[in-house]
Amino acid sequence: MCKVISVANQKGGVGKTVTCVNLGVGLAREGYKVLMIDADPQGSLTISLGCDEPDRLEYSLATAMINIIKDEDIDVTYGLIHHKEGVDILPGNIELSSLEITLTGVISRETILKSYVNKARELYDYIIIDCMPSLGMMTINALACADSVLIPVQAAYLPVKGLQQLIKTIGRVKKQLNPHLEIEGILITMVDNRTNYAKDIAQQVYDVYSSSINVFHIEIPLSVRAAEISASGSSLYVYDPKGKAAFAYSALIQEVISHAM
Ligand code: ADP
Ligand code: MG
Repeated sequence: MCKVISVANQKGGVGKTVTCVNLGVGLAREGYKVLMIDADPQGSLTISLGCDEPDRLEYSLATAMINIIKDEDIDVTYGLIHHKEGVDILPGNIELSSLEITLTGVISRETILKSYVNKARELYDYIIIDCMPSLGMMTINALACADSVLIPVQAAYLPVKGLQQLIKTIGRVKKQLNPHLEIEGILITMVDNRTNYAKDIAQQVYDVYSSSINVFHIEIPLSVRAAEISASGSSLYVYDPKGKAAFAYSALIQEVISHAM
């Protein structure tokens, strides 16, 4: 059975894309068939997986969604990019920005991505969706089609307020569009263990949320090598296999796999 995980936080720069890359590739390394979907017009996931100019691609997530809106039959494998580390990618690019505007006037606008994903479920064990930094229509689509949401939170500012808004949105989507939606967990990222500040924030997130939401015990450490992977086109398992961030993501994957069982 396929599990669809959307990686979301309306704040940018919290580690969504880096988490997607290493979660998706890590699951593929465990032998699972993995599709990654780039639902951010910035195309960071697409770039991180080695496609330098996503805006030049003829076919992307936006094209697939437009075809669905036009009620055309779609081949879910069309336009996928295969990455050397064993994952398939449905790329995303700037066309998603205009698609967001188009979506406002479309029937079933919240479930267009779901039509794609439900077909793709037959071919994959995991589908990982990298969300854009907003709670707009693309992110609603990503929540409406997912089994769970993984929420990266950067341990560098007080994240509590933004998190409440996100959790409220997830609750609304669950009630109105996707009753099975669960929160996979809050993942604290970019933890600088040399500072007490990072530890305080991690503790605060844990205190406020862990009674109602899974907060992963695994924290992703701040790592210069992790910041370099988007330019390298590979995951941490290839770029810095012995590093502490690769180790942390491997541990996260074991938790995610055990949740799915
Ligand atoms: P988002 O997708 O939420 O905007 P990114 O994954 O792009 O966030 O990460 C934001 C920035 O932080 C990027 O420059 C990225 O390379 C860097 N980064 C991500 N994870 C780490 C980490 N564990 N340690 C250091 N830098 C990181
Ligand atoms: Mg991103």
